Order: sequence, then structure tokens, then C-alpha cells
Amino acid sequence: MNIVLFGKPGAGKGTQAPRLAERLGVATLATGDVLRAAVQAGTALGREAKGYMDRGALVPDAVILGIVREALAAPGYARGAILDGVVRTVPQAEGMRGVMAGLGRRIDAVLDFDVANDEIVRRLSSRLVCAACQTPYMTGKVGDPCPKCGGVLVRRKDDEPEAIRHRLEVFEAQTAPVFEWYRAAGTPVATVDATGPVDEVTARALKALGR
Ligand code: AMP
Repeated sequence: MNIVLFGKPGAGKGTQAPRLAERLGVATLATGDVLRAAVQAGTALGREAKGYMDRGALVPDAVILGIVREALAAPGYARGAILDGVVRTVPQAEGMRGVMAGLGRRIDAVLDFDVANDEIVRRLSSRLVCAACQTPYMTGKVGDPCPKCGGVLVRRKDDEPEAIRHRLEVFEAQTAPVFEWYRAAGTPVATVDATGPVDEVTARALKALGR
């Protein structure tokens, strides 16, 4: 089963992806996590992506499609994937169709996590992430240890107010049309209310998937 998690930055995709993956018995693939790890490791990919990421712009489609193509061919994704943070542009949706077809798979559903902009700004400005395992947290302070792995909690550079504003504009201009693209392509799509307790959002998402 291959599911695209769709929604604004801060809609909760990174929180819900591992929960859904566990329930569905598949792995998660978060392009943002792959890119942040590459930036931290100082690889060629990281050096290329860093400038885009720091200002809240999208990394070029060809780079993203390369990451996804390589990752999904690995044995860990043989049963499918929860795709978190990809697909973010219509050219990526078109490219993904080819990537999936090459693997004999397809996107089975798109879940749109729906949250209003003022709530997004509130969430992102108080969000911290673990520098090591990337788990997002809405409580704690910079420098605290990650409850999950002991890494250090940090604020993402793109969670600063200026970058948040830009990311929301990018979402409207480049990402929002992707949802309609999938609907028009005949892929099952569903909008999930992504406000309220995390467990309730997970339950709504599973229900939308018929689970
Ligand atoms: P995220 O963790 O999903 O919010 O992604 C963080 C940043 O990584 C984004 O603001 C982009 O700069 C970059 N990024 C992650 N996934 C993609 C994607 N599918 N297309 C383009 N850029 C991406």
C-alpha cells in the first residue's frame, strides 16, 4: 500500500506518518528528513538542498524524484510506503507516476491533512524537532533531550516566522494543485480534519483509508 500524505507544513504529516505506517505494516519515507540528514552529513545532496530549505523554498523536482526513486527500490519499501512531504508539485506527481510504474506499483490513496493557516503558524512557531531522529515535539525547549532517542531538541531554521510565511505561500502556489491532480487522475483522495488530539487524527485517517 502506497499512501501520499498531503497538507501544509505543520499539518501533522510527520506525526501521523509513523503511526499510520505501523498500523498498515509499511515504512515511511519523508523527503524532508532525508534532506535534513544530507545537510547535516554535508553530502553533495545536502549542499545542493540547504539554501532552498533554509528559506522555505522547494528543492528541485529532479532532486526529489531521484531520492524517491532510489529509496522506494530498497527492500524496506517492498510492502509500500507512507510518503510524507512528497508529492509537492504537479511535475513531482507526474514523475512519481513513472517511478511507481517502474516498480509495478501505484499511489493507492492521497490523504489531505486539513488545518487552517493561523493554527499552522501557531504550531510551527512552537515546534521543536530532535536533531538526531527528527521526531517533532510541541512541548519542551531548545537543548532538551529527545524523549525517544536522547538527541538534542532544536528549532528548525525554516520554522522561523519569515520562512513559515514563505512555505505557506509555496504551498498555495505549487502544492495545493497536486490534490486536484490526483483527483482528476482517479486516485482515491480524502480530506481529514487534522485538528484536535493526535490519536483522533490517526483514527480519522485510518477511517478514510477504510481501516
Ligand atoms: P518538510 O520536512 O517536509 O517540511 O520539508 C522541509 C523542506 O525540505 C521543504 O521546505 C523543502 O525545502 C524540502 N523538501 C522536502 N520535501 C520536498 C519535496 N517533495 N519537494 C521539494 N522540496 C522538498
